[in-house]
Amino acid sequence: MQLVFATNNLNKIKEVQTLVPKHIKLLSLKDIGCFEDIPETQNTIEGNAIQKAEYVKTNYGYDCFADDTGLEVDALNGAPGVFSARYAGEQKNADDNMNKLLNALENKPNRNAQFKTVISLHFKDQTYTFTGICKGEITTEKTGEKGFGYDPIFKPAGYNETLAEMDLKIKNAIGHRGKAVAKLIAFLNS
Ligand code: IMP
Repeated sequence: MQLVFATNNLNKIKEVQTLVPKHIKLLSLKDIGCFEDIPETQNTIEGNAIQKAEYVKTNYGYDCFADDTGLEVDALNGAPGVFSARYAGEQKNADDNMNKLLNALENKPNRNAQFKTVISLHFKDQTYTFTGICKGEITTEKTGEKGFGYDPIFKPAGYNETLAEMDLKIKNAIGHRGKAVAKLIAFLNS
């Protein structure tokens, strides 16, 4: 059976392909000839994940899953949330985004935050969602070279290093995306 993962990130595809049941072959957007930008116009993380998976089903006819991630900061009422990628502007620059967030939290005592990943699966005419949360706090400066996005300023609860200082294996085990993927895999294996 073929199942589309609505991404062109081959690392993500490879990683998840090793985890899904053997009879499921994952296809990327490129594999199905989808080269346009898929609309992400909803105002929630869940909404965008569902929109992407439904877009592929409607326009290409494949069962599909899509993921969307955001960083929710308590002192900012959940911002940047669904706008995490473009928090500091359409250039979607990670450094600009982190600088803006560090400035927004200056003098704020509560630095609690969480990453949230939602995976939406469109499968046999039903839609399912799987959520992964990683709780932690925003540091006062950037530390670490690994990872991407907001990793250098996010310290998971119970750890003394940022996600950008951690090995990918640990990040995957305790992280938002890894937890959501684990739920998806459990469903596909059930
Ligand atoms: P996307 O839904 O995977 O495109 O993620 C939206 C934005 O959230 C990205 O542009 C990143 O800035 C941020 N982000 C997503 N996942 C992570 C992560 O694992 N670590 C740090 N930042 C992330």
